[in-house]
Amino acid sequence: MDLGIRGKRGLVTASSKGLGRGCAEALAEAGVDLVMNARGAEALAETAEAIRAAHGVDVTEVACDVTTEEGQEKVLEAAGAVDILVTNAGGPPPGMWSDWDREDFIKALDANMLTPIALMKASLPGMMERGWGRVVNITSQSVRAPIGVLGLSNAARTGLTGYVAGTARQVARQGVTINNLLPGIHATDRADALDGGVVKAQGITLEEARAKRSDTIPVGRYGTRQEFGAACAFLCSQHAGFIVGQNLLADGGATNITM
Ligand code: NAP
Repeated sequence: MDLGIRGKRGLVTASSKGLGRGCAEALAEAGVDLVMNARGAEALAETAEAIRAAHGVDVTEVACDVTTEEGQEKVLEAAGAVDILVTNAGGPPPGMWSDWDREDFIKALDANMLTPIALMKASLPGMMERGWGRVVNITSQSVRAPIGVLGLSNAARTGLTGYVAGTARQVARQGVTINNLLPGIHATDRADALDGGVVKAQGITLEEARAKRSDTIPVGRYGTRQEFGAACAFLCSQHAGFIVGQNLLADGGATNITM
């Protein structure tokens, strides 16, 4: 399917690895020129080069922490007038409800709620003026069904979801759509880190931890960054202009809900 976005300009934050990388790759395959970001310059440069070589699009790299105001300024300056914005950042650490104090919540809110909001606030006016734009926020399945040990993530991402629900409907008339893409378990470094916690807590091997978790997913496996990226690219396509303010689960059926 031609996604109809060849020649558009997209910003994908936190995209040297994992789900952000999957989104960048799928957008590049559709012909979108990219601004990519991560903290680690080396991995970012490698991924950017691989994307240029595979898809022949322009890729600008901005190595910085996107959860800081300074980082956001750098990324936005390099991005300029973007048509497509995919927001992403690392997820907060797991723990117990009794572990977290104000500072932990402020960090999580900064990374997973206030950063995407700041990026949207800066990018939406230009998109609205030009009459076309697409925003996809990478959130989590924890927005639909809470994951106890990820209380910081549950809280911050649900706050972002509330903001998007209202804002998406305020900008839709100007041709701009905002949606959230909710990953379940995907085979990325983040999943390895969470599985590493299970290995420690339960004294099992990494393979056993993965097999146990795969068994809880109706499709019986982890998702791939390519599958996730393809869903993101569709939401950024010309065909998705009537999809507004939605929360699309990409979780292999793991969230056991009817709607
Ligand atoms: P990942 O494999 O660990 O990749 C994270 C990417 O983001 C890397 O490129 C990393 O590069 C970059 N990054 C992290 N923090 C950053 C920051 N502050 N500023 C700029 N770049 C940053 O993670 P993932 O699995 O793709 O997860 C992406 C998001 O989806 C996370 O918020 C995660 O919590 C959420 N999620 C993931 C899953 C899953 O199963 N994978 C499930 C539900 C939700 P640097 O480290 O070099 O900065």
